[in-house]
Amino acid sequence: MTGNHQNSRHVRARAEIDLGALRANVRALRARVAPSGAQVMAVVKSDGYGHGMVPAARAARAAGARWLGTATPHEALALRAAGVDGPLMCWLWTPGDPWDAGVEADLDMSVSALWALREVTGAARAAGRTARVQLKADTGLGRNGCQPADWPELVGAALAAQEAGEVRVTGLWSHFACADEPGHPSIAAQLDVFHEMVAHAEKEGVDPEVRHIANSAAALTLPDAHFDLVRPGIATYGISPSPELGRPADFGLRPVMTLSASLALVKQVPEGHGVSYGHTYHTSRETTLGLVPLGYADGIPRHASGRGPVLVGEGGAWRRVAGRVAMDQFVVDLGGEPVAEGTRAVLFGPGDRGEPTAEDWAEAAGTIAYEIVTRIGARVPRVYLHEDEDEDAGAGQESA
Ligand SMILES: *Cc1c(COP(=O)(O)O)cnc(C)c1O
Repeated sequence: MTGNHQNSRHVRARAEIDLGALRANVRALRARVAPSGAQVMAVVKSDGYGHGMVPAARAARAAGARWLGTATPHEALALRAAGVDGPLMCWLWTPGDPWDAGVEADLDMSVSALWALREVTGAARAAGRTARVQLKADTGLGRNGCQPADWPELVGAALAAQEAGEVRVTGLWSHFACADEPGHPSIAAQLDVFHEMVAHAEKEGVDPEVRHIANSAAALTLPDAHFDLVRPGIATYGISPSPELGRPADFGLRPVMTLSASLALVKQVPEGHGVSYGHTYHTSRETTLGLVPLGYADGIPRHASGRGPVLVGEGGAWRRVAGRVAMDQFVVDLGGEPVAEGTRAVLFGPGDRGEPTAEDWAEAAGTIAYEIVTRIGARVPRVYLHEDEDEDAGAGQESA
């Protein structure tokens, strides 16, 4: 238990990762999609959205996420190397990527085009094994995936490879463009196209284990999009896909990451003192300044200069970043309050102890909370709380 253990690695700053909250989020998501009969794929790409890929993956599995998903094959292979087994899919392949290792590791490998099918069948032949392949349809996102016009050719080629024993088509899947905007006309349009593309593949003889299209937003708000599997990423980490959709608590979710630092310096300065690069902030009176030893190299957005909120000490009003965020540090105006060096400054957390949330930082920086958590840098140690699932009250009673 590393909880309150302040060794020298954690003094400057730390990101506490509440794995108990992550497990509870996965259980909440499972319960939410259970009426559809859907399973959960916890998405742990980008180092588990900044929370740490392996601990996030293990916690998600412990809470009953049957599937895990990553973007790159390298991420998925790193999970296998860490001993994570079971259904694991990755979807962002580039020519020359390690399909051979993917076949050996029994990954579900996404294929959007003929070039990818050629590479995966080549790897399967070389290994003398059958590769697990999921065909991705572009139902309207306009990003990765196979266009409807090219789908019959891709499906035909995949079925030929399946006949030859090179691949097994285990899944048919797609991804939404605007699932976080309920009622957006593209949602129904994409669902229609997905139904058509799945129907075509199944008519031709594909018999998939799973069909899936739902990200967090769709998992939370669109039962018609649940199919056999949902792929929540951000919701797994307790963050709402968009503030318009609702707050985390509205969905029974709780933010997993708390980012804090210890004030490195507190000092008295006179009225009219410029603060940080460019002097974009001047003290309006004699005051105290607190130095927070985190900067844009740690993922604190420079765009939040002058705005980002911080809770210093035990409570009271949020302080704002005074002046520019620098590479390694920023300053808050403590308004003359006598605060001791070493006092804890919380940048964001679940929000129920008076602290700001990642959503508040996203608003301050003109971005989304996804970008806030995923960009927290490698220099910030992750401290894992509640690693032991036996602590979860009622965990054993979950049946969904
Ligand atoms: C990142 C990603 C997800 C998860 O999206 P969230 O909005 O974080 O739930 C699901 N599917 C694909 C293809 C992704 O790239």
